[in-house]
Amino acid sequence: MNTIQSHRWMLGDVGLASLPSVFEGAVFTFDHPEMQQVMCPVCGGGYQWTRPPQHLTSNDDTGWGGHGDLIVIPMRGECQHQWDICLGFHKGNTFAFVRVPQQQAA
Ligand SMILES: [Zn+2]
Repeated sequence: MNTIQSHRWMLGDVGLASLPSVFEGAVFTFDHPEMQQVMCPVCGGGYQWTRPPQHLTSNDDTGWGGHGDLIVIPMRGECQHQWDICLGFHKGNTFAFVRVPQQQAA
């Protein structure tokens, strides 16, 4: 499990984890190693559900640090943890990261 660094973003205190960290310990691949099971970044649980994605534009006050659009895929685990997969655009580059509310990261 990755160390989650403390940052302040959008709705208050959140932790960040790397995108590769949500693939650690994955079990299922659908017989294709390119298809990785997504695991909870807090507890490593494998039963994770996607919620409708959010597309925030550069005009929204996302506070993530970049100056472009931000795509947020909310994840809700059967483990009861809630977290987000994020893709943020900034000056021709796209950054991928995982957002975890801080109260769950402890
Ligand atoms: Zn969990």
